Amino acid sequence: MIEASCHCGAVRLEVSRAPRTLLDCNCSICRRIGGLWAYYRSQSVRLRYRKRDVETYSWGERSIRYVRCRRCGCVMHHERTRNPRGSTLGVNVRNFDPLAIAKARVRRFDGAKTWKYLD
Ligand SMILES: [Zn+2]
Repeated sequence: MIEASCHCGAVRLEVSRAPRTLLDCNCSICRRIGGLWAYYRSQSVRLRYRKRDVETYSWGERSIRYVRCRRCGCVMHHERTRNPRGSTLGVNVRNFDPLAIAKARVRRFDGAKTWKYLD
């Protein structure tokens, strides 16, 4: 079990295994957040926070929302706004212990333009 925690500790989530591949995306939101993403089936991620401790951000077609701690601002994950528990969830592994991702491969993804890998 690997736990992610925001800086202040109010918002946590758990996954059962370390990620093998991470996504470094250059789209308009990911590059600003500076997130590094691991994707899991939504049902395999245990979200451990009270709803009042988070706020969300979405824009445009509002198909995806970014969930962050209301207090310290750390972005924990992003999920689909429709049927969020029935699809995949992008976990920001910056909130993991760095050792948990030390062996993972980082892939650069061109979310800004082509939606293809750059490496
Ligand atoms: Zn926090």
